[in-house]
Amino acid sequence: MTRRKKIYEGKAKILYEGPEPGTLIQYFKDDTTAFDATKKAVLEGKGVINNRISEYIMTRLNSIGVQNHFIKRLNLREQLIREVEIVPLEVVCRNIAAGQFSTRFGVPEGQALPRSIIEFYLKDDKLHDPMVAEEHITAFNWATTQEIDDIMALTLRVNDFLTGMFGAVGIRLVDFKLEYGRLYEGDMVRTVLADEISPDCCRLWDVQTNEKMDKDRFRRDLGNVTEAYVEVARRLGIVKQAAAGGESVH
Ligand code: ADP
Ligand code: MG
Repeated sequence: MTRRKKIYEGKAKILYEGPEPGTLIQYFKDDTTAFDATKKAVLEGKGVINNRISEYIMTRLNSIGVQNHFIKRLNLREQLIREVEIVPLEVVCRNIAAGQFSTRFGVPEGQALPRSIIEFYLKDDKLHDPMVAEEHITAFNWATTQEIDDIMALTLRVNDFLTGMFGAVGIRLVDFKLEYGRLYEGDMVRTVLADEISPDCCRLWDVQTNEKMDKDRFRRDLGNVTEAYVEVARRLGIVKQAAAGGESVH
């Protein structure tokens, strides 16, 4: 195989040069980090399952007109994507209080929010991804007012779709994080969804038992992390059964 140029290595994925200009290959690692990468582990098979879940969700979002960077899955760990200029924001959408939100605002974990709330965090590990307001975003040109409007509208559409999709298989979508990018096409620039959508960046609770089926299993040392991700994929019909040898999450 020809040696591909590595463009970027992040905490959970690697980006390689793609086969054509304007494309990249996104490789899903098993590496997992939390709390500003102070907590680290390698969870065998996690990258494989996230590659599949993200493929599934991005494909379904594309089919309802939410444009994104996904082109096609290449193999177990890699997908071909369109290269975008990442908007340096982590866009968080919350339906139920949990995690940082509960700590920051004193709202008990599990309490339904009066409406979905979108928050912006600056994507900057050195600064520990501080929460930012529209004022900061536009003043520092991290995104324009138009981009913020587009991002909010798209995020609410993604939230509606994912809430229904997970709800149909007995999973509550508590919150999730998205990243967006600028896709340049000639003189045109479009805001599209990028990065990944997987249990690494969503909070997913079993509707019946409230059992966590996401990265909080890793953050809170609950065990069976990959097994829970596989169960999410199984319920969505992406994989047929739980991985051989893996303990059930129930
Ligand atoms: P990080 O540690 O920075 O979160 P990841 O391990 O998540 O990195 O690797 C993915 C990186 O690639 C992220 O920095 C993300 O912003 C970036 N990225 C995701 N999708 C695209 C894309 N379509 N084009 C360019 N960069 C992308
Ligand atoms: Mg990331």
